[in-house]
Amino acid sequence: MFIIDIVKVVSTIPGKCTGCRLCELACVNFHRDNLFDFQPAIRVYRDESGLSFYPFVCRQCEEEFCVSVCPTNSLARGSDGVVRWNENTCIFCKQCVMACEYESIHFSPNKKEIIKCDTCNGEFSCVNTCPYGALEIKEIAI
Ligand code: SF4
Ligand code: SF4
Repeated sequence: MFIIDIVKVVSTIPGKCTGCRLCELACVNFHRDNLFDFQPAIRVYRDESGLSFYPFVCRQCEEEFCVSVCPTNSLARGSDGVVRWNENTCIFCKQCVMACEYESIHFSPNKKEIIKCDTCNGEFSCVNTCPYGALEIKEIAI
């Protein structure tokens, strides 16, 4: 395998997650105009027991399921290796939402948006906010 680039991504450690959802709040605080527009790119789910929590967030994966399925090339990897959405060309077909194996691309019907992690352009708000060490920055090769 040829390594093209090293990309910094959000990595999750579910065993440490308490479900406090401060990561979601940090994400919304970074990206949205107000906190009531609560559309985080990172989302924390609870299992059936209600006792275990799992943060889900885009891992900028090498497979690029979302990029490859998009009919309008509205998702593309930038020079920093992060996959970003282009609102100007998107036709909201939601193919990317369905294609993501990690359930980490979301459609917001309010403003018609595709929401996914952009690492806060390298600021990693969620990682820096998590008080329990359940999120970390990981380097992957693509
Ligand atoms: S901030 Fe950390 S502990 Fe809290 S829900 Fe998010 S990942 Fe889990
Ligand atoms: S919803 Fe937009 S970004 Fe997603 S696959 Fe369709 S055109 Fe591409």
